[in-house]
Amino acid sequence: MPKMPVLFVGHGSPMNAIEHNAFTEALARIREQLPRPKAVCVVSAHWVTDGARVMTSEQPRTIHDFYGFPRALYEVQYPAPGASAEAEKLAADPEISADPSWGLDHGSWSVLRHLYPQADVPAFQLSLDQRRSFKEHLALGREIASLRERGVLILGSGNLVHNLGRMDWEHPHSAYDWAIEFDTRVKNAVNAHDAAALAAPEKWGETLLETAHPTVEHYLPLLYCMGSTGEGDEVSYPYEGFDFGSVSMRMIRFDESGAR
Ligand code: ZN
Repeated sequence: MPKMPVLFVGHGSPMNAIEHNAFTEALARIREQLPRPKAVCVVSAHWVTDGARVMTSEQPRTIHDFYGFPRALYEVQYPAPGASAEAEKLAADPEISADPSWGLDHGSWSVLRHLYPQADVPAFQLSLDQRRSFKEHLALGREIASLRERGVLILGSGNLVHNLGRMDWEHPHSAYDWAIEFDTRVKNAVNAHDAAALAAPEKWGETLLETAHPTVEHYLPLLYCMGSTGEGDEVSYPYEGFDFGSVSMRMIRFDESGAR
């Protein structure tokens, strides 16, 4: 069986969950192209914990972890079943503990809703352990790579540039120079399969990193995608662009060479 592809999705505003736009159309196209996974393992920017955890819920709840959005968004339910057997396998790793209480946060369901609108593909999440360094996140990404061989889609959900304090509301499709610079550096390193460079983004300039990511949780899911892929994977970008100057909406798709 060929390895499952790996995806990174820049999820942006929670409103993308219920809107129809070029970004959601790109997700719908991916749905048509990807082999149907046995389950999806989401590494979401919105589940940050002390120590790595894996969600083992059999019927994960839909978590509405945002404030001040229209009622329609709070009414969305995404009733995908959990994938507790796969999750328990990850929890066998002494570095990862089982968490039966977490559900699917909006980093997951705002994307999954467009990939699998019927909510019929089991889904679970791996948390971001805030005690880990960039390199340690990458290392954990390597440990979960075997999910691909078991037909599980690894989905990193964050944003490659994410500075909400600098959003330029007047120009929805603009991008600051520093945002373009950081996003381009990421793209170049991904093209070169240079995981080590992506695990040391401070080397591109401390100020650049702090401006692109005042906090790094939206960047970290990328390191799980890099850890679970390598030279044997072809890279493509199903969607590229910026929202409001300071949020990169880039998607990255990794396919085992020859599998596409
Ligand atoms: Zn987010």
